[in-house]
Amino acid sequence: MKVELLGANIDALNMQETENMVAEMVNRGRGGQVITLNPEYLYQAQSEPGLLDVANSAGVVTPDGEGIVWACKTSGHPVPERVTGIDLMLRLVRRAAAEGWKVFLLGASPGVADAAAKKLSERFSGLQVVGTHHGYFKDDKDKEVLDKIIAAGPDLLFVALGAPRQELWTHRYLQQLNCVAMGVGGSFDVISGHVQRAPLWTQRLKIEWFYRLVKEPTRWRRMMVLPKFAWLVTKKYRLKT
Ligand code: UDP
Repeated sequence: MKVELLGANIDALNMQETENMVAEMVNRGRGGQVITLNPEYLYQAQSEPGLLDVANSAGVVTPDGEGIVWACKTSGHPVPERVTGIDLMLRLVRRAAAEGWKVFLLGASPGVADAAAKKLSERFSGLQVVGTHHGYFKDDKDKEVLDKIIAAGPDLLFVALGAPRQELWTHRYLQQLNCVAMGVGGSFDVISGHVQRAPLWTQRLKIEWFYRLVKEPTRWRRMMVLPKFAWLVTKKYRLKT
């Protein structure tokens, strides 16, 4: 079931159901896009409707972050739980190793996708990573990158180019990619060990965002969106203006 929030249709599924749905997409073999939707993307989409179109044409859209879970509840259409990019990615990689799906990692700084691939292969035996490519390439190199991915023929492509570039890039080339592609933000940095994930206690207290702000103060500018997002949701669904 999908629930609508500020124009975006979000899958009201828990983590396990989401994993199963993506697995079905992979096994069907017709490709598709998976988006882990965060408040920053949805806020930006209010003034750039193209971003809403991309989200609404994706096969799966998950509520990534407590902000989206809270907003869905406020709107009267709750979702079962937060489904973050990194958690879903790790489950899908485990599944890929078990089912024999081929995986490609695109994005992050040079060397990071390779390091992440190495860590994943050590952790999930039998995993086939058929290629990696860093995420710092200009638009005129799109074709080169695309050709590399197509030649490798992955079943599952993880795209870590930062939001919303990763969603736009995937949407644009989905037909040619011919696989299931999912945007995963900074996940390769965490998996490779370049960046530490916020500890579990901050996730439980729902203050992971605060931990990340303290660790990476440069995030403050992008986090300024969060109160604006909260106000927009309150205005639309609580005050019904
Ligand atoms: N990134 C990239 N190319 C770019 C800009 C960013 O590969 O042109 C990568 C960056 O190295 C990092 C990730 O995108 O690995 C960050 O994505 P985002 O900020 O969306 O992550 P989040 O903080 O939401 O997890």
